Amino acid sequence: MIQLNDGNRMPRIGLGLYEVDASSWSVRLIRIAVNEGYRLFDTAQLYENEHETGYALKASRIPRDQFFITTKLYTTANGRSQVLHSFHQSLHRLMVDYVDLYLIHAPRGGHVLEAYDTLLELRSRGRIRSVGVSNFDVQHLESIRRTGRPLPAVNQIELHPFCQQRDIVKYCRRFGINLMAYSPLARGAALDDPFVLQLARKYRRTPAQILIRWSLQNNFIPIPKTNHPARLRENLRVFDFEISRYDMQQLTQYGYETQLSSTND
Ligand code: NAP
Repeated sequence: MIQLNDGNRMPRIGLGLYEVDASSWSVRLIRIAVNEGYRLFDTAQLYENEHETGYALKASRIPRDQFFITTKLYTTANGRSQVLHSFHQSLHRLMVDYVDLYLIHAPRGGHVLEAYDTLLELRSRGRIRSVGVSNFDVQHLESIRRTGRPLPAVNQIELHPFCQQRDIVKYCRRFGINLMAYSPLARGAALDDPFVLQLARKYRRTPAQILIRWSLQNNFIPIPKTNHPARLRENLRVFDFEISRYDMQQLTQYGYETQLSSTND
């Protein structure tokens, strides 16, 4: 578990649910994930699978407090009343009475501080355990900090060796904001990179495990997504090996200097 700046704790790795279809398959996949040991699930209003997530977790009969559910507000465009409406819809679809971590999906659409204040209000009413943001840059976080508001517990951004976002990572570390790493496999594009493959051979692991381990050893919280049960297990089996400090440095430097065609960093 990782300690957050608001006193709560969250699992070190989770399952991303973007493009896991809103269908009976997603319910099955999530139930398999629960059996494999996943406890953190990352969904969003936008992903249209909150209902399936809630249903699958409820059907597992594992107590609610064993799970860590993250979901996201799609837009801040319409201010407080819209936030409250969206949030309660998410709660309803998820079939829960609180969310562990509620994120503003992106700092777009205006009324961001008003939305953020509404999240803080929901936290004080116990409906959200931790307040977070996603895709926030230094300037967005500074607008929260400068105005004396409590900083978010988490900023969820794209992070992998080929997208290191060093300025925002440095800022978050300085101010105690935990980083959730989305697209930790670069949406699959990093899996056949020659250097990643070389490390996979060296450690007798898969490329996905090397990338997830890189994320963990940076103290990020990776949320790899897969539609394949066997890969669910593979992606979670990352706690019985360690990438050496030297190889971490090499991969970090290599990724920093190498452009993957499918990323913008
Ligand atoms: P990702 O997790 O980096 O990569 C997913 C891709 O890798 C899929 O094509 C998957 O294919 C493949 N894959 C997964 N495990 C594998 C393995 N062991 N071996 C080979 N291939 C494997 O990409 P992502 O879905 O963009 O990111 C993960 C999660 O981050 C999302 O689901 C979502 O929860 C979150 N996210 C958040 C934002 C945001 O704006 N906050 C944006 C993007 C993503 P299969 O499914 O076929 O296995």
